[in-house]
Amino acid sequence: MTEFTGKGVYGAAAIGRISVFRRQDIAVKRVRITDTEKELARLEAAKEKAVAQLGEIYEKALKEVGEANAQIFEIHMMMVEDEDYNDAITEMIQGQNVNAEYAVAATADNFAEMFSSMDDSYMQARAADVKDISNRIIACLTDSGTAQQSTGGKVIICADDLAPSETVSLDKENVLAFVTAHGSSNSHTAILARNMNIPAIIGVGEAFLQQISDGDTAIADGFAGKLIVHPDADTLAEYEQKMQQEAEKRRLLQSLRGKENVTLDGTKINIYANIGSADNIGEVLLNDAGGIGLFRSEFLYLESTDYPTEDAQFQVYKRVLESMGCKKVIIRTLDIGADKQADYFHLAKEENPALGLRAVRLCLTRQEVFRTQLRALYRASVYGRLGIMFPMITSVWELEEILALCNAVKAELKAEGLEYAEDTELGIMIETPAAAVISDLLAPMVDFFSVGTNDLTQYTLACDRQNPHLERFCDPHHEAILRLIAMAAKNAHANGAWIGICGELAADTSLTEAFLRMGIDELSVSPSFVLRVRDAVRKIDLNQQ
Ligand code: PEP
Ligand code: MG
Repeated sequence: MTEFTGKGVYGAAAIGRISVFRRQDIAVKRVRITDTEKELARLEAAKEKAVAQLGEIYEKALKEVGEANAQIFEIHMMMVEDEDYNDAITEMIQGQNVNAEYAVAATADNFAEMFSSMDDSYMQARAADVKDISNRIIACLTDSGTAQQSTGGKVIICADDLAPSETVSLDKENVLAFVTAHGSSNSHTAILARNMNIPAIIGVGEAFLQQISDGDTAIADGFAGKLIVHPDADTLAEYEQKMQQEAEKRRLLQSLRGKENVTLDGTKINIYANIGSADNIGEVLLNDAGGIGLFRSEFLYLESTDYPTEDAQFQVYKRVLESMGCKKVIIRTLDIGADKQADYFHLAKEENPALGLRAVRLCLTRQEVFRTQLRALYRASVYGRLGIMFPMITSVWELEEILALCNAVKAELKAEGLEYAEDTELGIMIETPAAAVISDLLAPMVDFFSVGTNDLTQYTLACDRQNPHLERFCDPHHEAILRLIAMAAKNAHANGAWIGICGELAADTSLTEAFLRMGIDELSVSPSFVLRVRDAVRKIDLNQQ
């Protein structure tokens, strides 16, 4: 039995087999070959396998994200068969007597470079696609794959680190837990784990990957932040019992479904849920959330290999709004940048990405991308109760430009005879100290504020939320953070706006009473935390000091 310790970021435990996450971009070596015919036959077999995989992914995507989003995999299938691409690979194998893996990788680099240098943004975006299909063919040639493909069934994913885009593309049905060598508790991967209700342990340290293998039995304990490999019979029995007790606790919480979020003295608060995908709606409804307080729409972009079209976005927003009926749905406009990168945006490398071209800064710089999203949002607004929320605001002028763009988009839709809901609420995230400090100026311009405590903590305390070595310094309970939230609440209410919290701190029940005393109107938390926060609210008496 071997034990590795890190930090638990989602309190739950899982028992299962380990699967070591391998990146698709496998290091490819140049090998001299003599039998070119054999190499070409290997290539053909790998391509066939890649097309079959893409066909399966297409069918899955068709069911889960609709035809518009699934189309990219059809394009990938065609790209595998593309004549120019195949001629280049074949010529390299025959002309230079190199192995197929190397010929595919080198051709992918050449084609990607060629696409990137084109003026047309559509063609530029194909660079990521050609790399993607080439990596798939190489994986088929080397018989490697993603963690789940190689082992099958439900597994504990162990990785050095996982980027948000890698996390979203994992087959969630088959993930029992995440364990990473690096990472920090406020990273988007940790947040995704919480949203997906799966035990997650971060910061276990580099060495653990050398001491585990695919198929090892392990316990991932997200409470204590421990990974126990090859547990003995007693430990297994202990954890099985613990998991049963947890299931019982969850069952008890379910008895709070349908009950009000009201304190003993009669103060009410809304408890909403945070989601990253329309697929999370089931969890939202199961946990009886009063609405959606944060739909991180950038995950739509991270899941795609090209800009999601207006129609594709419209379909997703419409689905979420329709599923939530008359409950409020707050969709945040894309917060791409910093750790959330999509290749096809071709963003320049930055020295300090967290302080870089992120969220509304990107939207105001690339207005065509922003406009497409705003059009999709407004078109969807007639299917429910929509609120649109803008992230990373620091200045009044940004909000003025955004509101002008919203008006322009509405006028455009009207001229085209397309409907939108006039009462769509508009709000901003308070996640920079600047926004909190000038919240008196911002509040009259919007219907609501929502405090993003993850970034507010990062920017107020000057602690990179991705840096695992700063956990001790990155204290979200810091008096400065609480004062900024209280200041924003006071200014919101003085100007007739409501205020919620959608950062991870909203689920911290040791602060629920403090938030109620500040007059916070809404707490938006991962779906599985809704009933726990309701339970905490119902035990508070604000008449007691
Ligand atoms: C936040 O910063 O608190 C927030 C909710 O946004 P994100 O975590 O997606 O940056
Ligand atoms: Mg944020």
